[in-house]
Amino acid sequence: MKSHAEAAAEFIKDGERTDWHDETLWFVRAKRDLAAHGLPEWEQLRDWASEIKNHTLSNISQYLTAFEKNANANGITVHWAADAEEHNRIIHKLIKDNGIEKIVKSKSMLTEECHLNEYLNHHGIATIDTDLGERIVQLRQEPPSHIVLPAIHLKKQDVSDTFHEFLHTEKGNNDPQYLTEAARIHLRDHFVASELAITGVNFAIAETGGFVVCTNEGNADMGAHTAKIHVACMGFEKLIPKAEHLGVFLRLLTRSATGQPITTYSSHFHRPRPGQQMHIVIVDNGRTRQLGRPDFRNSLKCIRCAACFNTCPVYRRSGGHSYHTAVAGPIGSILNPNLDMKANADLPFASTLCGSCSNVCPVKIDIHEQLWKWRQVIVAEGYVGAGKKLSMQGMGFLFSHPNLYRFAGKMGRFFMRIAPFMVNNRLNPWYKQREMPAPPKESFGEWYIKNRKK
Ligand code: SF4
Repeated sequence: MKSHAEAAAEFIKDGERTDWHDETLWFVRAKRDLAAHGLPEWEQLRDWASEIKNHTLSNISQYLTAFEKNANANGITVHWAADAEEHNRIIHKLIKDNGIEKIVKSKSMLTEECHLNEYLNHHGIATIDTDLGERIVQLRQEPPSHIVLPAIHLKKQDVSDTFHEFLHTEKGNNDPQYLTEAARIHLRDHFVASELAITGVNFAIAETGGFVVCTNEGNADMGAHTAKIHVACMGFEKLIPKAEHLGVFLRLLTRSATGQPITTYSSHFHRPRPGQQMHIVIVDNGRTRQLGRPDFRNSLKCIRCAACFNTCPVYRRSGGHSYHTAVAGPIGSILNPNLDMKANADLPFASTLCGSCSNVCPVKIDIHEQLWKWRQVIVAEGYVGAGKKLSMQGMGFLFSHPNLYRFAGKMGRFFMRIAPFMVNNRLNPWYKQREMPAPPKESFGEWYIKNRKK
């Protein structure tokens, strides 16, 4: 598996695509700002959301028990999965026990986290992803690169080529209307034939035993309404205590995600329709461990809006696949080391720590601080290479000796001026894809002393 830096280097070889990816996501971020500034109570909503999640996480067993009781009373069967393997086994058993052959699935990052498609494929069972972006990447046998916009790394022409290959659309026709029509016809056939529909869960309500699924395409509803079995999958952190709390999150979610005031479909599921089975699989998969890590507990407040992805200068310029995990971006870089610290030791370093992620997070997760804390844990646990460890120790020594730091800065500026090739060379990873800036004449410290005296 390639590290984040290696995979990012592949992505940015195509400079035009990198610029386009960066600008597209920044456009989404700008829409988020407009939507957020349109609500005078925005900061109040963020505070409430953070506090509701904090309270729920502090009383999680009580709310999970209440949810199970109320869901059962509504006729929903609740299953508990300790890990990804158990989650996949539960769904596989439901498929086998009911003799199911046709399955549709709406977007669920949890099923990506658990690698459900691969598991079912391995057992000879095909699943059709019905979110348009997810279907596009599924046809291309790629994972999603973004949790809200799974095919954001692809251009219209890529989609046209994919549809031509798999759906036999006209070659070279990249008219979005034409391509959307082709996708609609293709997916409709699968919806009509489906026997079991898998959906995610955005919010589960302990008080009512019901849950809410948000989509812009209505595909979760189409699947759940036509199939005779509806299986909803959720990590336990999706729980909120009461229905009255929903408004806080629904107002924040899509404004943060895409700048829309509300998702096109916010579908409430409370009980199966007559003759239908409804199941909900509640998954731990390392969440309890994260809950027990005080420094990282807040990451479980995440409502998966992806605002932190869209604003992150590293994500925008390195692409989602460079994170080699189901949930990419800043929040993925906090969640994934919890799942496998060794395999994901590179991710907390894929950040400038600029703090923009924490600024936009609707539930006020201290994302950049957690990334910084993960770096310390990962270095202490010995999961970084000797070179990085040594250079970190060197920098630590330099930063804690002000006179030495000032001298090194002076020397650095001097050598960069008279012998720029010492820095601008292929051995310097910072130089590979960018011009190094011209060295300033003086340090900020020197400038400050001079100007403060004026
Ligand atoms: S960490 Fe915050 S900004 Fe990022 S996806 Fe989660 S809720 Fe959204």
